[in-house]
Amino acid sequence: MSLQMRYYGDPILRQHAKPIDHVTEEIVLLARDMIEVMQKQNGIGLAAPQVGVALRIFVTTVYPDQEDGESTYGEPRVFINPVISHPSADLVEMSEGCLSIPGVSEFVWRPESIEFEAMDLEGNIIKERISGFWARVCMHEIDHLNGVLYVDRIKGKVRNKLEPILRRIKKEHYE
Ligand code: ZN
Repeated sequence: MSLQMRYYGDPILRQHAKPIDHVTEEIVLLARDMIEVMQKQNGIGLAAPQVGVALRIFVTTVYPDQEDGESTYGEPRVFINPVISHPSADLVEMSEGCLSIPGVSEFVWRPESIEFEAMDLEGNIIKERISGFWARVCMHEIDHLNGVLYVDRIKGKVRNKLEPILRRIKKEHYE
């Protein structure tokens, strides 16, 4: 399978991705290829729509934060049909970037912690309350599965400043 990166302006980034019923050999290969693309692009997370596949799966090298709040990275992991619930009332602002929106990073407000539930390739269920940078990555990737990009969450002056950059990315890849 040869997966192509999709960029801002690609309609697939606006689709609501479909749940995965069974972890077939095809899904295992998709996950492997997604990891390869993510690493080639020097990314820390990648959702399937970003490589043109409208399925609810993402890969990431980010692990739960350390006790002191430091981010942790490791071997890429795969999360299937991820769901978040019970967001904290507390919001925090963190810088985000996206492989589909190259050259841009901006601060975004999101809940500090969430309940996270997903399945791995072996069918194990992960269910935990997560916070910090790890929670941030999960929220960003799950947004992708719902057709949402982090720039959608930015309003006002900063968003206006982004508009010409976003237009340029779209033009470069799709016009
Ligand atoms: Zn992204």
